[in-house]
Amino acid sequence: MDLTHRPRRLRQDRVRELVSETSLEPTDLIAPVFVDATTKERQPIESMPGHERVPIEDSVARVEEVLETGVEAVMLFGIPKSKDAKGTRAWAEDGVVQEATRRITAETDAYVITDVCLCEYTEHGHCGTLEPGIRETETGSREDPSLTVDNDATLDSLRRTAVSHAAAGADMVAPSSMTDGMVGAIRDELDDEGFDDVPIMSYAAKYESAFYGPFRDAADGAPAFGDRRHYQMDPANAREAMREVELDVEQGADVLLVKPALPYLDIVADVRREFEQPVAAYNVSGEYAMLHAAAEKGWLDLEETARESLLSIKRAGADLILTYFAEDIAEQLR
Ligand SMILES: [Zn+2]
Repeated sequence: MDLTHRPRRLRQDRVRELVSETSLEPTDLIAPVFVDATTKERQPIESMPGHERVPIEDSVARVEEVLETGVEAVMLFGIPKSKDAKGTRAWAEDGVVQEATRRITAETDAYVITDVCLCEYTEHGHCGTLEPGIRETETGSREDPSLTVDNDATLDSLRRTAVSHAAAGADMVAPSSMTDGMVGAIRDELDDEGFDDVPIMSYAAKYESAFYGPFRDAADGAPAFGDRRHYQMDPANAREAMREVELDVEQGADVLLVKPALPYLDIVADVRREFEQPVAAYNVSGEYAMLHAAAEKGWLDLEETARESLLSIKRAGADLILTYFAEDIAEQLR
């Protein structure tokens, strides 16, 4: 047998690290943190084992826990003390994210990224202002089956929200609503208000995915009626993602995010290939919950599958990964 090519030569123990193409570092990871203005105590999130909603008073302590693992960045999500039709608490100076951001940036070295969206702040749970004439009915259905959110009216709310986060000290803002024109509107407003050094991580390709289920438990942001398929992307579409991303790049997006991650690695790879900006991927709550559920049954090894998942997301082309595994994996890596 004369085999010239034996790839197994480079899989031996002392050389495999030398030829490894992809590495995972704690500094690649961003840990989502849920701050809840309606509670005085930490509340476990049932469908996301190990994660909690924390009161504003505990936000600094929560972020310090993250930093101890070697993860240096957090993404803040807020649960406001009250909701209304427009989601006005999203841009309140004393809002939940604003308060938490002020405390965290004053007392820690964490890099604070804030979620800019309205769905946690509107009583109907949609990512913006509803179009006139669309109302919830007794049966929970919509009177008008066409669009749910008034795109252009929502831009104003997003502008105000992003600037209020920057004013509170946010290092980066992350608009997640898939509102057309959101990146440009936010960039203009940030620049006008003197925050031209605050980057925007745009949820450039966000799919209408069934993998978000557990997050809606965590952030209390499930739509009261209908769904988000009129503003989030159709899981069937890949070329459309390139168009979405291109629009955000033209509007000044600094970091391009794909969400979810594992079922959309082709999109991560496409964005990596087609654009120069850093690519982020959101390893979402359902991707986290399913590994936990299988591990609980003894069917999968949690640490191994979690690490392999994150490695595959990096291999596909993501520079940074938002993940509920951030702390666990960072501790493993150390
Ligand atoms: Zn939203």
